[in-house]
Amino acid sequence: AKDGGGNQVAVFESHMGEAIAQSFRIEAELRHALAHGELQLHLQPQTLPDGTLSGAEVLVRWQHPLEGPIPPGRFIPVAEQSDLIVELSAFIFREACLLLARLQAAGVDLRLSVNLSPRHFRKHSFIPWLKGLLADTGADPHRLTLEVTEGLFIDNLSETAARMDELCALGIHFSIDDFGTGYSSLAYLKRLPIRELKIDKGFIQDAPSDPDDAALVDAILAVAQNLHLEVVAEGIETPEQATFLSTRGRIIRQGYLFGRPEPAELWLQRWTTPPL
Ligand code: C2E
Ligand code: CA
Ligand code: CA
Ligand code: CA
Repeated sequence: AKDGGGNQVAVFESHMGEAIAQSFRIEAELRHALAHGELQLHLQPQTLPDGTLSGAEVLVRWQHPLEGPIPPGRFIPVAEQSDLIVELSAFIFREACLLLARLQAAGVDLRLSVNLSPRHFRKHSFIPWLKGLLADTGADPHRLTLEVTEGLFIDNLSETAARMDELCALGIHFSIDDFGTGYSSLAYLKRLPIRELKIDKGFIQDAPSDPDDAALVDAILAVAQNLHLEVVAEGIETPEQATFLSTRGRIIRQGYLFGRPEPAELWLQRWTTPPL
């Protein structure tokens, strides 16, 4: 068609084509990256109100040899579209368990929080595989937290609950990441073996200046307190945000103010004494 509408469709299709081509390219390059050691674990500290280190969140980084660092927001969602995420997630878990075993061997009492891919979790092989990995590496499941997002609970809640219960029985903790931004239903908190709520950085960042965000943070803290859940606040960047939290009880802090994500080896040198 030569009319305007036709052109619009053509432009739209070509954008769609570009997005799809881009996804294919990222997928192919990610496969290569996994095989060639371009992926690296970074750690970001989590600290108690008194400043004591309690653990770290594991965050994957891709150092592309030509394009430089590619943020996880650009490749995790692409990987999640196919079983490539299973391979990627397996790599991340293996590295994280090896780190955990090293910390244990050195007598360092810290937890590691790993982001759980919904697609990996739903594989029937996931639980036996993870048990095998824990046995192979010697990593103590009691020091492992899995961060899940609320999207995981949408379908098949009873199967999800059964699987989470099985992992919980090993000693693994579950944390709800970005709490309050998804399909939150407080009923999940009763049904699932949740140990921790992670307040999304969107709420934390505006809490000192926006009464609505402050009220939401307080509501989340009240729920957590009544259900005896641990709370992590993420995305703390300013002293004002830290001050806002300081009068609100036991909240684990994570954010650039306390430490940026850093390569695991560097992080261990900086945060463990004597440095690992
Ligand atoms: P997330 O799990 O919500 O991770 C928190 C994100 O906030 C991280 O971004 C972290 O670097 C960033 N962040 C930490 N402190 C601050 C702060 O003070 N201010 C601001 N503005 N941001 C802060 P990152 O590393 O880019 O990760 C983005 C998302 O990618 C993660 O969100 C997670 O959904 C996913 N992701 C990252 N690593 C992994 C992984 O190893 N496995 C899986 N499955 N997903 C991952
Ligand atoms: Ca997370
Ligand atoms: Ca988060
Ligand atoms: Ca997030």
